[in-house]
Amino acid sequence: ATDHSGSADSCRVRVAVRLRPKNSEDLAHGADFNSCVELQPESKRLKLKKNNWSCESYKFDEVFSENASQKRVYEAVAKPVVESVLEGYNGTVMAYGQTGTGKTYTVGRLGKDDPSERGIMVRALEHILSSLSFETDWVAISYLQLYLESVHDLLAPEKTNIPIVEDAKTGEVSLPGAAIVEVKDLEHVFQLLQIGEANRHAANTKMNTESSRSHAILIIHLQRSTRRKEESSSSLYNDRHDTFPDDLPLVLKSKLLIVDLAGSERIDKSGSEGHMIEEAKFINLSLTSLGKCINALAENSPHIPTRDSKLTRILRDSFGGTARTSLVVTIGPSARHYSETSSTVMFGQRAM
Ligand code: ADP
Ligand code: MG
Repeated sequence: ATDHSGSADSCRVRVAVRLRPKNSEDLAHGADFNSCVELQPESKRLKLKKNNWSCESYKFDEVFSENASQKRVYEAVAKPVVESVLEGYNGTVMAYGQTGTGKTYTVGRLGKDDPSERGIMVRALEHILSSLSFETDWVAISYLQLYLESVHDLLAPEKTNIPIVEDAKTGEVSLPGAAIVEVKDLEHVFQLLQIGEANRHAANTKMNTESSRSHAILIIHLQRSTRRKEESSSSLYNDRHDTFPDDLPLVLKSKLLIVDLAGSERIDKSGSEGHMIEEAKFINLSLTSLGKCINALAENSPHIPTRDSKLTRILRDSFGGTARTSLVVTIGPSARHYSETSSTVMFGQRAM
């Protein structure tokens, strides 16, 4: 067995693996079901069995079995990023994996009636909404779909082809024209995410594609006031003002991107129709360029090559620098998908 150990201390990206429970297809194999995955959650290791003679072991920041709750996954993967976003830094949480392995379950599940089912998007917004302390604090969301290198607005579906603009001075990325909707409470969050889901479904039907062929990107915009005690030695301020203020407001502006990536599986191009070949090409482009950026982050490289795809251009200011990034890679247990599972695990491993 080969050992691939990530160096946990220097890693800039937190990487977790989550194993999905057997699905109906797996269960249909009954006693003949063959798993290629073995987890060792205590040592945060995952063993991938190619056959009876070949087995590789990988270490991650976190390894979640099929029994891991949504709450545990949120707390280990997203909570540290949300906390740093609340302190004024940008952050990104992403789900990567083959279609059907639990990306949407992990990040996008609403769990309106069953709080235990809620995924990362809902929990992050819940967490942020409950952390606001001032009347002037403000949370808003944008919800986008990226398909064939074109950005569509899931909250205002008439808006397509939204440009990505980077401020030359601050490096701040914005998407002019995309809706930014203020959210007041959890009820409103459900409403907006449901609208986004319905629009995603409608757009995909219209474009004759599957949601697994596009990326869904939720942007949570946050502005918070904090009260900073003015240093008592600030004589300058004292000289100019009659009264000495107790504290001064300081506005922190940050954003959190939560990304449900397109399925990482290779698409068989032989026999595919024209638009499917285009899809395959663009998904490859964005996931490959994401991989390069994550590798550069993991290697502490001063240059993160974000220019190659729209996905990485959108992520640019929420990635590297002071921003925190978490990646969940999702896998299924079945040996029939060994090669996809192996390439997903390798993608996660290279990020460490
Ligand atoms: P993806 O978005 O990666 O294509 P989904 O999130 O849609 O995959 O998951 C596929 C199916 O498996 C869904 O029916 C989902 O509810 C179920 N599923 C995925 N992960 C889990 C999990 N950890 N626990 C229970 N069900 C899961
Ligand atoms: Mg999905």
